[in-house]
Formats: sequence, structure tokens, C-alpha cells
Amino acid sequence: MTETFPEDWSTALALVAHPDDPEYGMAAAVARWTSQGKRVVYALATSGEEGIEGMSPDECGPLREGEQIASAAVVGVDEVEFWGFPDSQIFNTPELRAKVAETIERIAPDVVLSLYGGPEWAPGFPNQRDHMEFAAAVVDAFDGLENKPRALFTNGPDVTHAADVEGFTDAAIAALECHRVYLEVLDPNTPVVEQATAQVDRGTGPIDGFDAARASGFTLVRGDA
Ligand SMILES: [Zn+2]
Repeated sequence: MTETFPEDWSTALALVAHPDDPEYGMAAAVARWTSQGKRVVYALATSGEEGIEGMSPDECGPLREGEQIASAAVVGVDEVEFWGFPDSQIFNTPELRAKVAETIERIAPDVVLSLYGGPEWAPGFPNQRDHMEFAAAVVDAFDGLENKPRALFTNGPDVTHAADVEGFTDAAIAALECHRVYLEVLDPNTPVVEQATAQVDRGTGPIDGFDAARASGFTLVRGDA
């Protein structure tokens, strides 16, 4: 049974590890929510400075921050922050948990969105260590908060709640396309628009038990929806 993602809230905080993480799975739903006048804030642990092969971190970090800020704007997100933790070296440390907690307390969201923290997306499709460590830090920090937001959702398999994103997938594709240099280097043989379209199509198919042609799925891990 997949429930409808609640929409009686005003602020969501999306906590992720790297630039482009929000675009792989959340952006269509974010476009829907911002179109309703909700506030969505992105906070990224790293600037993704190790993410473009052949490019120095000093060049890559600012470039990817710029791509992420442009990408967020496409889906109505004007607040994007980068915490400066080292890319590819994310661990569930006291420093990271403190930053997660400080950010949740400062933004005071109703809903927190985070990355999937399990070991595999599906058999043979392992999760990234940065993502697993980051996701664990978010859960631990959330559990330690005195004043908790209403709910913490992750974005991965084992969906409990879904948002109908029919009409919002074009925005999600356009958002992912903003990671242009990253995608061009990742797969030089496939035009960026094709990469972005294929990725968004994979992430927004119909979901079992949820009545929508295009849906984004989330997993409730803490709190009440
Ligand atoms: Zn990532």
C-alpha cells in the first residue's frame, strides 16, 4: 500500500551528499511542491569536487555548485547551501551529525528529505558509501533533536509514500540537464538531454498501488506522515 505523500506542510529541507543527488529522484516532486507555494531548501554536504574525471577539485567544486544552483532554480528552489565536507570522504562523524542537526534547527522544516541509506538499490546495484554514511548521519542527527520535524523521508526503494508528478517531469529533466559539464564528462557519447530524460523516466514511472501515470516515491523512516 503506497500512501499519498502529504502536502499539508509549508517547508521541506532536502539533505543530500553531492550536487545532482536531488535531481536523481526528488526534483519532479520538488517542482510540484514549489508550484504550490511551498518552500524547499537544499543542503549539500559536499560540492562534488571529486565528481568530474580529469578536472581538479579546485575547478570542479565551484563549477558543480553553479550547476546545482541553476538546477535548483529550475524546480523553484532558491535556497541552496554547501557545507564543504570532502567529496568521496563522507562519514557519519560527530561533525557531520552536528551540521545536520544545526541545519534542521535553523531551517525548521516540517519535512526532511534525505538519501536512501541501504546497501543496495536492488540486487547487484550497490549504493554509494558516501550516500550510506550521509543517510546514517541524518537519521542519527534527527533522532537526537529535541524538537523534531514532523517526518523524515528517504528517496529510494521500499516506497511508502508517493507524489503524483505528472506535468512536472519536464522540469525535472531540465533540472538534471543543468548538470551539463558533469553529464558530458560522465557519458560523452549520449547527449545531455537524452541522459537526463532517461534518468527522469526511470525515476518517475508508475508505482504499484498508487494511482498516477508518473510518480516519485519516498520512504517514511521517522515521524508521522
Ligand atoms: Zn551522490
